Amino acid sequence: MQLLEDRILKDGKILSGNVLKVDSFINHQMDVAFISELCKEFYRLYKESNVTKIITIEASGIGIACLAAQQFNVPMVFAKKSKTSNISNDFYCCEVESYTHNTTNKVIISKEFINPDDRVLLIDDFLANGKALLGLKTLVEMAGATVVGAGIVIEKGFQPGGELLRKNGLRVESLAIIKSMSVEDGISFI
Ligand code: 5GP
Repeated sequence: MQLLEDRILKDGKILSGNVLKVDSFINHQMDVAFISELCKEFYRLYKESNVTKIITIEASGIGIACLAAQQFNVPMVFAKKSKTSNISNDFYCCEVESYTHNTTNKVIISKEFINPDDRVLLIDDFLANGKALLGLKTLVEMAGATVVGAGIVIEKGFQPGGELLRKNGLRVESLAIIKSMSVEDGISFI
Protein backbone atom coordinates (compact mmCIF):
# COMPACT_ATOMS: atom_id res chain seq x y z
CA MET A 1 0.00 0.00 0.00
CA GLN A 2 1.72 3.14 -1.26
CA LEU A 3 0.37 5.40 1.48
CA LEU A 4 1.92 3.16 4.14
CA GLU A 5 5.22 2.64 2.35
CA ASP A 6 5.63 6.41 1.97
CA ARG A 7 4.90 6.94 5.66
CA ILE A 8 7.35 4.23 6.74
CA LEU A 9 10.07 5.83 4.60
CA LYS A 10 9.28 9.27 6.02
CA ASP A 11 8.80 8.44 9.73
CA GLY A 12 10.11 4.90 10.39
CA LYS A 13 13.36 4.47 12.30
CA ILE A 14 15.59 1.42 11.96
CA LEU A 15 16.96 0.05 15.22
CA SER A 16 19.46 -2.69 15.85
CA GLY A 17 18.15 -6.26 15.96
CA ASN A 18 16.06 -5.80 12.82
CA VAL A 19 13.51 -3.69 14.65
CA LEU A 20 11.63 -0.96 12.84
CA LYS A 21 10.27 1.74 15.10
CA VAL A 22 7.05 3.38 13.98
CA ASP A 23 6.31 5.12 17.27
CA SER A 24 5.26 8.43 15.74
CA PHE A 25 2.22 7.04 13.89
CA ILE A 26 1.44 3.45 15.01
CA ASN A 27 3.12 2.19 18.18
CA HIS A 28 3.14 5.08 20.64
CA GLN A 29 1.52 8.15 19.13
CA MET A 30 -1.24 6.79 16.87
CA ASP A 31 -2.34 8.61 13.72
CA VAL A 32 -5.94 7.47 13.99
CA ALA A 33 -7.13 8.85 10.65
CA PHE A 34 -4.20 7.17 8.91
CA ILE A 35 -4.74 3.82 10.67
CA SER A 36 -8.44 4.02 9.76
CA GLU A 37 -7.39 4.18 6.11
CA LEU A 38 -5.26 1.05 6.62
CA CYS A 39 -8.24 -0.71 8.19
CA LYS A 40 -10.43 0.17 5.20
CA GLU A 41 -7.94 -1.82 3.15
CA PHE A 42 -8.27 -4.80 5.54
CA TYR A 43 -12.03 -4.54 5.06
CA ARG A 44 -11.68 -4.45 1.27
CA LEU A 45 -9.49 -7.58 1.37
CA TYR A 46 -11.68 -9.59 3.75
CA LYS A 47 -15.19 -8.27 3.19
CA GLU A 48 -16.32 -11.51 1.50
CA SER A 49 -15.03 -13.68 4.37
CA ASN A 50 -17.99 -13.24 6.74
CA VAL A 51 -15.78 -12.11 9.60
CA THR A 52 -17.57 -12.24 12.98
CA LYS A 53 -14.68 -11.29 15.26
CA ILE A 54 -11.34 -9.50 15.17
CA ILE A 55 -8.63 -10.91 17.43
CA THR A 56 -5.24 -9.43 18.30
CA ILE A 57 -2.62 -9.66 21.05
CA GLU A 58 -1.85 -6.97 23.63
CA ALA A 59 -0.52 -4.43 23.58
CA SER A 60 0.43 -2.90 20.25
CA GLY A 61 -2.26 -4.61 18.15
CA ILE A 62 -5.17 -3.30 20.19
CA GLY A 63 -5.61 0.17 18.70
CA ILE A 64 -5.36 -1.11 15.13
CA ALA A 65 -7.72 -4.01 15.82
CA CYS A 66 -10.32 -1.63 17.29
CA LEU A 67 -10.36 0.42 14.11
CA ALA A 68 -10.54 -2.75 12.01
CA ALA A 69 -13.45 -4.02 14.11
CA GLN A 70 -15.25 -0.77 13.42
CA GLN A 71 -14.91 -1.36 9.66
CA PHE A 72 -16.30 -4.90 9.93
CA ASN A 73 -18.87 -3.90 12.55
CA VAL A 74 -17.89 -6.85 14.76
CA PRO A 75 -16.40 -7.12 18.29
CA MET A 76 -12.68 -7.07 18.92
CA VAL A 77 -11.04 -9.38 21.46
CA PHE A 78 -7.42 -9.11 22.51
CA ALA A 79 -5.40 -11.99 23.93
CA LYS A 80 -4.01 -10.96 27.30
CA LYS A 81 -0.52 -11.66 28.54
CA SER A 82 -0.95 -13.49 31.84
CA LYS A 83 1.51 -13.39 34.72
CA THR A 84 -0.18 -16.17 36.69
CA SER A 85 1.21 -19.65 36.22
CA ASN A 86 -2.00 -21.53 37.03
CA ILE A 87 -4.58 -20.58 34.44
CA SER A 88 -8.15 -21.56 35.25
CA ASN A 89 -10.29 -23.73 33.03
CA ASP A 90 -12.21 -20.65 31.87
CA PHE A 91 -9.44 -19.61 29.48
CA TYR A 92 -7.76 -20.86 26.35
CA CYS A 93 -4.01 -20.51 26.92
CA CYS A 94 -0.79 -20.89 24.95
CA GLU A 95 2.78 -19.64 25.06
CA VAL A 96 4.13 -16.95 22.73
CA GLU A 97 7.72 -15.76 22.38
CA SER A 98 7.94 -11.99 22.22
CA TYR A 99 10.08 -10.70 19.35
CA THR A 100 10.77 -7.29 20.84
CA HIS A 101 11.23 -8.32 24.48
CA ASN A 102 12.95 -11.69 24.01
CA THR A 103 10.70 -13.31 26.61
CA THR A 104 7.98 -15.97 26.57
CA ASN A 105 4.49 -15.02 27.71
CA LYS A 106 1.43 -17.05 28.50
CA VAL A 107 -1.38 -15.54 26.47
CA ILE A 108 -5.01 -16.18 27.30
CA ILE A 109 -8.49 -15.55 25.95
CA SER A 110 -11.59 -16.20 28.01
CA LYS A 111 -13.65 -19.09 26.61
CA GLU A 112 -16.62 -16.75 26.87
CA PHE A 113 -15.36 -14.62 23.98
CA ILE A 114 -14.68 -17.17 21.21
CA ASN A 115 -17.43 -19.45 19.94
CA PRO A 116 -17.09 -22.44 17.59
CA ASP A 117 -19.15 -20.60 14.95
CA ASP A 118 -16.88 -17.53 14.96
CA ARG A 119 -15.02 -16.58 11.79
CA VAL A 120 -11.95 -14.75 13.02
CA LEU A 121 -9.68 -12.22 11.35
CA LEU A 122 -6.34 -11.91 13.18
CA ILE A 123 -4.83 -8.42 13.19
CA ASP A 124 -1.35 -7.30 14.23
CA ASP A 125 1.03 -4.43 13.67
CA PHE A 126 4.11 -6.47 12.67
CA LEU A 127 4.89 -9.93 11.36
CA ALA A 128 8.47 -11.11 11.99
CA ASN A 129 8.98 -14.75 13.02
CA GLY A 130 5.26 -15.47 13.16
CA LYS A 131 5.07 -16.47 16.84
CA ALA A 132 2.39 -13.97 17.80
CA LEU A 133 0.11 -14.95 14.89
CA LEU A 134 0.70 -18.64 15.46
CA GLY A 135 -0.26 -18.25 19.12
CA LEU A 136 -3.47 -16.42 18.20
CA LYS A 137 -4.32 -19.05 15.59
CA THR A 138 -3.81 -21.77 18.22
CA LEU A 139 -6.17 -20.05 20.67
CA VAL A 140 -8.89 -19.67 18.02
CA GLU A 141 -8.52 -23.30 16.97
CA MET A 142 -8.73 -24.46 20.60
CA ALA A 143 -12.21 -22.92 20.59
CA GLY A 144 -13.14 -24.79 17.42
CA ALA A 145 -13.60 -21.49 15.57
CA THR A 146 -12.33 -20.65 12.06
CA VAL A 147 -9.41 -18.35 11.25
CA VAL A 148 -10.27 -16.70 7.91
CA GLY A 149 -6.86 -15.03 7.70
CA ALA A 150 -4.55 -12.40 9.08
CA GLY A 151 -4.25 -8.68 8.42
CA ILE A 152 -0.78 -7.33 9.12
CA VAL A 153 0.29 -3.71 8.84
CA ILE A 154 4.03 -4.30 8.31
CA GLU A 155 5.55 -7.66 7.39
CA LYS A 156 9.31 -7.99 7.52
CA GLY A 157 9.60 -10.24 4.50
CA PHE A 158 13.24 -11.08 5.20
CA GLN A 159 12.16 -12.87 8.38
CA PRO A 160 10.51 -16.30 8.22
CA GLY A 161 7.02 -15.76 9.72
CA GLY A 162 5.10 -14.88 6.56
CA GLU A 163 6.39 -17.81 4.52
CA LEU A 164 5.90 -20.23 7.41
CA LEU A 165 2.29 -19.26 7.98
CA ARG A 166 1.35 -19.12 4.29
CA LYS A 167 2.90 -22.56 3.81
CA ASN A 168 0.68 -23.73 6.66
CA GLY A 169 -2.33 -22.59 4.62
CA LEU A 170 -3.08 -19.34 6.46
CA ARG A 171 -4.16 -16.41 4.31
CA VAL A 172 -1.84 -13.54 5.29
CA GLU A 173 -2.43 -10.06 3.86
CA SER A 174 0.25 -7.52 4.70
CA LEU A 175 -0.20 -3.86 3.75
CA ALA A 176 3.56 -3.32 3.40
CA ILE A 177 6.21 -6.01 3.02
CA ILE A 178 9.79 -4.99 3.73
CA LYS A 179 12.29 -6.75 1.49
CA SER A 180 15.39 -5.47 3.24
CA MET A 181 16.23 -2.99 5.93
CA SER A 182 19.52 -1.60 7.25
CA VAL A 183 20.77 1.61 8.77
CA GLU A 184 23.25 2.00 5.87
CA ASP A 185 20.94 1.28 2.91
CA GLY A 186 17.53 2.16 4.34
CA ILE A 187 14.34 0.26 3.57
CA SER A 188 13.14 -1.41 0.40
CA PHE A 189 9.73 -3.01 -0.17
CA ILE A 190 8.54 -6.05 -2.10
P1 5GP B 1 6.62 -12.31 15.58
O1 5GP B 1 5.79 -12.96 16.64
O2 5GP B 1 6.00 -12.40 14.19
O3 5GP B 1 8.06 -12.72 15.62
O4 5GP B 1 6.67 -10.76 15.95
C1 5GP B 1 5.49 -10.00 15.89
C2 5GP B 1 5.31 -9.20 17.12
O5 5GP B 1 6.54 -8.62 17.58
C3 5GP B 1 4.35 -8.05 16.85
O6 5GP B 1 3.23 -8.22 17.70
C4 5GP B 1 5.11 -6.78 17.18
O7 5GP B 1 4.55 -6.17 18.30
C5 5GP B 1 6.52 -7.21 17.50
N1 5GP B 1 7.49 -6.83 16.45
C6 5GP B 1 8.17 -7.67 15.64
N2 5GP B 1 9.03 -7.00 14.86
C7 5GP B 1 8.87 -5.70 15.15
C8 5GP B 1 9.49 -4.49 14.66
O8 5GP B 1 10.37 -4.48 13.77
N3 5GP B 1 9.05 -3.32 15.20
C9 5GP B 1 8.10 -3.26 16.18
N4 5GP B 1 7.74 -2.06 16.63
N5 5GP B 1 7.50 -4.38 16.66
C10 5GP B 1 7.90 -5.58 16.16
